[in-house]
Amino acid sequence: MMRIVIVGGGMVGLTLARLLRDRGHAPVLLERRPPGAHQARPFMLGFQGFPALEELGLLERVRGAGWDIAPGADGTPVAICVKVGHLLDALAEGVPVRHGESVTGLLQEGDRVTGVALEGPGGVSRLEADLVVACDGVGSRVRAMAGLEAEVSALSDATLTFMSPSVIDRSFSMRYLSDGGQMGLLGWPEGSAGWRTIDRVGRDAALAPGVEAFRRSFAQLMPEAEGALAGVTSTDQLLYQEPAVLRADTWWRPGVVLIGDAAHFFGPETGVGAALGLGDAHALALAIAQSPDDPDAACAVYEAWRAPVIRPYEAADPAAGRMALPNTDRPPEERWPPA
Ligand SMILES: Cc1cc2nc3c(=O)[nH]c(=O)nc-3n(C[C@H](O)[C@H](O)[C@H](O)COP(=O)(O)OP(=O)(O)OC[C@H]3O[C@@H](n4cnc5c(N)ncnc54)[C@H](O)[C@@H]3O)c2cc1C
Repeated sequence: MMRIVIVGGGMVGLTLARLLRDRGHAPVLLERRPPGAHQARPFMLGFQGFPALEELGLLERVRGAGWDIAPGADGTPVAICVKVGHLLDALAEGVPVRHGESVTGLLQEGDRVTGVALEGPGGVSRLEADLVVACDGVGSRVRAMAGLEAEVSALSDATLTFMSPSVIDRSFSMRYLSDGGQMGLLGWPEGSAGWRTIDRVGRDAALAPGVEAFRRSFAQLMPEAEGALAGVTSTDQLLYQEPAVLRADTWWRPGVVLIGDAAHFFGPETGVGAALGLGDAHALALAIAQSPDDPDAACAVYEAWRAPVIRPYEAADPAAGRMALPNTDRPPEERWPPA
């Protein structure tokens, strides 16, 4: 049986661990953070992540905890808007996770990765593996230590997001700004959120006009967000980000493979990062089941299956190719910070 170490217990690492356990494997899952720690965020799970959840018997449960976005004729939604903690809690059930264990190095023999070095409550130790799976997110240390190069490109604009406790009357709404930038609204049973693109002016300048001015400006451009904005009373509920996209030419080398955000990171406007990460976990679990004694064959098949799925999203990221208007050239109502 292949010895598998999964680095990172976010949603992709947890999904992979469960899918492998269901196939009789006993992967070791290492997560540097304590149980239950995660960043609250506006979150929708796209349909690309549904097959993995369906196989785990979790799709209807996650759907029941959230609100559908745009169900089609057969009732299947395009996405589910759900409090991200519900998804993480559902995925984590029954999965042994070694919390507080941080991977700090890779063991290597020749050009093959043969395990990890880690630091945890018990001190420094080593863990041998036939396959190390990097699910350690966009800043992946495993990716860097494995020498798998990634191109990181800053997007031309920034994103200003609000989180609100107000429960609203819809799961989703979206509008475009005059430069093709985006503003959106998400609602789920416990709250709501919205975001818009702005110039990369820095956090201080973005928050300086204050929360009341932000509410007014956002509601003028998107009146249906008024109910959600009513719950925004402090700049602590505003999140300024300068997103970058990440693309790696190769996702594996002998003994190590990248999946999820460690392998690809799209701009926030695609809204599919998590769903495609769950799809990666599903494909890798299937590839390992097909070649249970040959990690290299499993990785090669994994890459062959996933490239046609992932590469088009990387190429079509709406934020990457935009001709952004400087704030001063926008219509006055779109300017943030206001003139
Ligand atoms: C504000 C915001 C909004 C978002 N909205 C959406 C959305 O609406 N829809 C969507 O699809 N996606 C969204 N995303 C992206 C989505 O959250 C990610 O695509 C998803 O979380 C990726 O999961 P992951 O498991 O690959 O990585 P992560 O969630 O980053 O998990 C990586 C894990 O690895 C652990 N780790 C890191 N290094 C080590 C180490 N050396 N040793 C041990 N453990 C380690 C970390 O502690 C972490 O738990 C959003 C992201 C943000 C920030």
